[in-house]
Amino acid sequence: MGGLLELNGVTKRFGGIVAVKELSIKVNEGELVGLIGPNGAGKTTVFNLITGLYPVDEGRIIFNGEEITPLKSYEIIRKGVARTFQNLRLFPRATALENVMTACQNHLRYSFLEACLHMGRWRRYESAIKDESMYYLEKMGLKERAFQRAGTLPYGHQRRLEIARALALKPKLLLLDEPAAGMNPEEVAELSELIVDIHREFKLTTMVIEHHMDLVVGVCPHVICMNFGEKIAEGTPNEVMNHPEVLRAYLGEEV
Ligand code: ATP
Repeated sequence: MGGLLELNGVTKRFGGIVAVKELSIKVNEGELVGLIGPNGAGKTTVFNLITGLYPVDEGRIIFNGEEITPLKSYEIIRKGVARTFQNLRLFPRATALENVMTACQNHLRYSFLEACLHMGRWRRYESAIKDESMYYLEKMGLKERAFQRAGTLPYGHQRRLEIARALALKPKLLLLDEPAAGMNPEEVAELSELIVDIHREFKLTTMVIEHHMDLVVGVCPHVICMNFGEKIAEGTPNEVMNHPEVLRAYLGEEV
C-alpha cells in the first residue's frame, strides 16, 4: 500500500554537512508518527524538505500519490501539508483569533478591493471564518484566550495556538516540530492528550518531532529515530527505545 507521505532516498547537504542522508520513510494515512533523534540529527531539516522550505539535493518526496519535491512551500501547503515551527511563528500583536483566521482565509477567494472595502464575498465569509476559527481555538483549549494578543499568551498556549492555526488549514498531513518545547511536565501531559484527541477527531496523519520521550511513547504508535541524518531505527516506541543504535546515539559508546 502506498503511504500518504514517502521520502525516497532523500539527501540534503549544507556545505560539507550532510544534514539528511539517503533517507527513506513512509507514513501511511491516519498514522501518528514520532520522529526522534539527538540534537542535530536532521529532524527539522526533514520537515523543512517536506514543506519545501529547503530544496532537496537528491531523492524524491511523494505526497498523496504526487511528487512534491520540486514544489514551492505555498503549493505544498495547498496540497494539504501544515506544520508548526520549533521557534514559534505567530503574529504576536494580533489576537489568538486573528492568528487562526489568517489560516482559515487560505481557502477563500475574494478580490483585493472586496477585502479593502469589507464588502461582497469578504463580508459573507467573515462571520463564517470567525466561527470556524473559534472552533479550532476551542479544540486546543484556547477559547477563553481568543481576544488576547498572541504575544502575551503564556508560552504553552502560544504553542497550542500554532497547532490551532495549522489545523485551520484543514491539512491531510500535520507536522509538529517540538510542540512541547519549553513546557513543564503538566503542560506536556495536557498536550499529549490534545495531540491524541485531534489525531482521532480529524483523522489526521501526523508527524511529531519531540525530545520529550514521555510524549513520544505515550502518543506515537510508530517511531522513527534519526542520527547524523540517517534513519537508525523504526518501529513501536518500545522497539525503538531499546534498539542498540538508539541507545548508543543517546547515551554514548559505552552502551
Ligand atoms: P534539534 O533537535 O537540535 O532541533 P535536528 O535533529 O532538528 O536538531 P537539524 O536542525 O535538522 O537537526 O540540523 C541537522 C544538521 O544540519 C545540523 O548539523 C545543523 O547544524 C545543520 N543545518 C540545519 N539547517 C541548516 C542551515 N540552514 N544551514 C546550515 N546548516 C544547517
